[in-house]
Amino acid sequence: MESSHGQRVALGEELVAFGSGRRLRSSAKVLPEQARAHNRSLVLQTLYHRGAMSRADLARETGLTRVTISDLVAESIADGIIHEIGVREAAGPGKPPIEIDIDREGHQVIGIDLSGASEFTGSVLDLGGRTLVSHSTPLPEERDAEHTYQAVVDLARRLATSATRPVLGVGIGSPGVVRSDGLIINASNLAWQDFPLERRLTEDLGLPVMVGNDANAAILAEYTFGEARSDLMLIRIDRGVGAGVITGGRPLVGARFAAGEIGHVVVGTDGGPLCSCGRIGCLEAWVNVPRLLAETAAAPERRGEILADAGTRLGMAIALIVAALDLAEVVIAGPAELFDGVFLDAATRALHDRTLEGVFADVPIRLSKQDDIVVRGAVVTVLAAQLGVS
Ligand SMILES: [Zn+2]
Repeated sequence: MESSHGQRVALGEELVAFGSGRRLRSSAKVLPEQARAHNRSLVLQTLYHRGAMSRADLARETGLTRVTISDLVAESIADGIIHEIGVREAAGPGKPPIEIDIDREGHQVIGIDLSGASEFTGSVLDLGGRTLVSHSTPLPEERDAEHTYQAVVDLARRLATSATRPVLGVGIGSPGVVRSDGLIINASNLAWQDFPLERRLTEDLGLPVMVGNDANAAILAEYTFGEARSDLMLIRIDRGVGAGVITGGRPLVGARFAAGEIGHVVVGTDGGPLCSCGRIGCLEAWVNVPRLLAETAAAPERRGEILADAGTRLGMAIALIVAALDLAEVVIAGPAELFDGVFLDAATRALHDRTLEGVFADVPIRLSKQDDIVVRGAVVTVLAAQLGVS
């Protein structure tokens, strides 16, 4: 155990990228026919989060038999997912054990973020979470379903060409309401309605593709690699506003895959800016990034007032959600130059002013520290689907 602990310390730096964070709670019971996949996931999950160890350590850590471990490890070595990294220095007599680990450089994963205000961005990462190369492409001038799709395919192909190892899969974080099979029910900014993005990309790229909502991807990155607590809401603010929610260690999906779609909730009864949806005073109309940048640039002397007003609207909008779900924290993912300071202070004040004193007064609203949070979250969805690692 001691040297396995030592190994983890030695690996510490490597694990910084995709840290030794938490795993999501599994929701389903395991049926006998699923046992092998479940055990494989347990083995990979353990190695992924704990680092290199011997087969004997792995059996002890997972509670699986030595025979099962040998079998699963052999299979994963054949797949190139696990590799033997050498012999550990013997602590006592007997044959020194061979240590194994996830081959973090043996495969690569592509993550793509479709939520940017003016461009699609994507990166190739290794399994250790290091970004190896990034590309972006401007949103197409002609904003119809096929032009948008073509821009995504071209970006994905460019990234796949840049990969230097076999690609495990492509993860996509898209704005809008996304069904569990990766069909975009509605993403008005991208002109997609009932658009089978995951199926078409899978066919066109010849790779496994996972499509999910951008905020739901972001909250996975925050939960798995960030400092998140177990009941939280993450609000993505960019061209639009969307949220992901994790309660009891499980992502909230909702009855129509739209949990967290808070952008078009009207905040207040006093009017407000015109929203892209046609209504007046939606949360998204108040706090989207292009609007705040334009307004603060046009009237720099009113910058504090504009940001405080937007922050207050956000606090008003989330107060009921924080209280209803008893959330531990709210995380904002958006540009710090806009949201750090006046905006966050106003949002926090509005939240605390509108919720039960002494119960919710300690619920913080903080900024995520993660860069490329949607890209990294999209990569997490691929690791979860392909390796059972989350
Ligand atoms: Zn709206």
